[in-house]
Amino acid sequence: MEVILQNLTKKFPGRDRRKKKDIIAVSDFSFRIPDGKLIGLLGPSGCGKSTTLNLISGLVKPTAGRIFFGEDDVTDLPPEHRGIGLVFQNYALYPHLTVMQNILFPLQNLKGRDRLTKAEMAEKAREAAGLVQIEELLDRKPGELSGGQQQRVAIARALVKRPKVLLLDEPLSNLDARLRLQTREEIRRIQRETGITTIFVTHDQEEAMSISDMIVVMKEGIVQQIGRPQEVYDNPANLFVARFLGTPPVNVFDGKIRDGRLYIGAEAVLEGLEVFADPMPEEVCVAVRPEGFRLRENGVLSCELSGVEVMGRDISVVSRNKFSLNPQIRSIISTENQPDFESHVVRFDLIPRKVFVFRRDTEER
Ligand code: ADP
Repeated sequence: MEVILQNLTKKFPGRDRRKKKDIIAVSDFSFRIPDGKLIGLLGPSGCGKSTTLNLISGLVKPTAGRIFFGEDDVTDLPPEHRGIGLVFQNYALYPHLTVMQNILFPLQNLKGRDRLTKAEMAEKAREAAGLVQIEELLDRKPGELSGGQQQRVAIARALVKRPKVLLLDEPLSNLDARLRLQTREEIRRIQRETGITTIFVTHDQEEAMSISDMIVVMKEGIVQQIGRPQEVYDNPANLFVARFLGTPPVNVFDGKIRDGRLYIGAEAVLEGLEVFADPMPEEVCVAVRPEGFRLRENGVLSCELSGVEVMGRDISVVSRNKFSLNPQIRSIISTENQPDFESHVVRFDLIPRKVFVFRRDTEER
């Protein structure tokens, strides 16, 4: 099922009513979510992810804009008539019911032509349980299950009515690191097997990148970029997106563009930079992925070391860069060969596709 968001906006009244300043939780969000794909809604806490999901589910009414499921305008439909499955962070299972009864629950209040016999209900519940591989747990109560198992039950319950759209709100946040990894792969497998259009909310960029067909990066209610994870990682639209994706994060420098050359400090670090979509001002901001530094004896960029920490693959270099705005920056670089810790100055080349140049944005600093 294709899901179309059309100029979707949600304002909440601000806390201080006298000031009458609304909180714009979601601002003019338009996106055609392709059928059968897994979309990751990504951004820091408070950026409007859950509100977007709740608008799609119908739990929250939009201030403006419309939502279509395929051809159908569902904007004014209540959640129970939208054909959605919902999964939350806290599983929200009924503790006094068995796993089987929990999964059966959404089937029990179907009306009219949708009504099912007991046998049909049981078959559908078993099928959903099979999909998330919890058949052997059907007689247990939620309290007797691990967090990961509880979340599988919640997913089975969301799937039992074969929803047109599956909505997951931070479904992995209550799980420990190992289970989180396992369950996210599980979600990916189930999504592929069922082909249900799925929208997955998370603040964890690695999580979103690893399972999504496409990610939507949001900040303060505003969509910053939409694209395939690798595409967004390789071509971030702005400094916020560049910073938000990737661990360790990008290193940010002040730079200058002059005659098609990019300078960091007095040193020209890249040549042939005339290929910007928009004309760039002379003063720019340069973001370099950690893997964008290549240690080289005659490298164009010098860096005076004041401390080095080796962290497995990565090396954290605390530098005293005279060219940096901040005299004590911490650059995290991944290098194949380790710097010579004895010498105080090391030299790097920059790998052009790992370097992003943006307008200076004071807000981001
Ligand atoms: P996220 O899911 O990205 O953490 P939310 O969608 O929950 O963000 O919230 C977006 C913004 O809207 C936040 O500023 C939040 O405080 C505000 N907000 C969310 N729900 C309500 C509500 N029911 N009433 C007032 N403000 C809300």
